[in-house]
Amino acid sequence: MTQSRRNFIKTASTAIAAAAVIGPAEKILAAQHVFPETVKKSQKKMKLSFRPFNAEMKHVFTIANSSRTSTPIVLTEIEYDGITGYGEAAMPPYLGETQSSAIDFLKKVDLGRFSSPFMIEDIMTYVDSIASNNTAAKAAVDIALHDLVGKLIGQPWWKIWGFDKNRTVSTSFTVGLDTEEIVREKTREASPYNIIKVKLGRDDKTDRMMIETIRSVTDKPICVDANQGWKDKNYALDMIHWLSERNVRMIEQPMSRYMLDETAWITERSPLPIFADEACQRLTDIQGLKGAYSGINIKLMKCTGMREAREMVTVAKALHMKLMIGCMTETSCAISAAAQLISQMEWADLDGNLLISNDCFKGAEICDGKVKLNDLPGIGVVKL
Ligand code: MG
Repeated sequence: MTQSRRNFIKTASTAIAAAAVIGPAEKILAAQHVFPETVKKSQKKMKLSFRPFNAEMKHVFTIANSSRTSTPIVLTEIEYDGITGYGEAAMPPYLGETQSSAIDFLKKVDLGRFSSPFMIEDIMTYVDSIASNNTAAKAAVDIALHDLVGKLIGQPWWKIWGFDKNRTVSTSFTVGLDTEEIVREKTREASPYNIIKVKLGRDDKTDRMMIETIRSVTDKPICVDANQGWKDKNYALDMIHWLSERNVRMIEQPMSRYMLDETAWITERSPLPIFADEACQRLTDIQGLKGAYSGINIKLMKCTGMREAREMVTVAKALHMKLMIGCMTETSCAISAAAQLISQMEWADLDGNLLISNDCFKGAEICDGKVKLNDLPGIGVVKL
């Protein structure tokens, strides 16, 4: 075979292989051996824009230490070459970020210094270095960037990551602390879901009332989130035994994130798996939790978004820790971004969009109580 013949076969097969995984416009470019990010590179710039949005709660939402009727959000967009990626920062007050702190942060982000949105590693390393904390604001950039890149490639992230779309789990549906009458009403409202999540940790009487009230309506499995509310390890372990006899399946953050030794003592003796939420914010936290918790709850707003969440999956698996994915009260934008990881999870708590009355996106949905991904590129959302 001649050299030119060999080169032709090599070039053609590369173009065909590339065309098999990308969209129609990119197929033409790939056939010409030109990838979209290299076309008129000098003229193309990423443009980040953002605006505040208030997610209105369907019910007053109460956890161990606070109540609220809305959640402040900042919506982001990154536009590049006529394509727009959507992102979101959701900021329940107890996390310390606000719409104004997120907007101040986003004003500092200069995406103009990067020639291509495909450089996610470099871009997010830069975004993370701008200031400490601000994890939700950073996630708002990360999610929009992933949505944009997925759209440019023409594929959803679950597929880019090599995950099975059909491997999924049920999402829990949260019933917040409230009066017996409202708890019964909320439990009935949760009937389309297979697992109920209950926020405990206020006081013994209220905790037991919550479980017994839900049990007066349904026998469905319950996940308990104590939100660091239990103060004594012996009490917490007794409570976990009591809960395990009432078809409770797992416990999230039983004690303060700082009480690592006490939590390890509980985990060693607990009949139920113990998950870290407040104790596990980012990738670097995981190793220190090995042995103290059975697993971690990954949330995009804690860990700066999809790039780091994907890395957390790998690290937790390497440490033989269980995985769950959670959320804040947020729109279908951030929920659908988190759902891209669903196949890797044992538990899911992706009900944030179901708790609000003014969702401005349509994305991953719940079908028979389970998180159902779609085939749309990027994070799989349509703006309403
Ligand atoms: Mg939690």
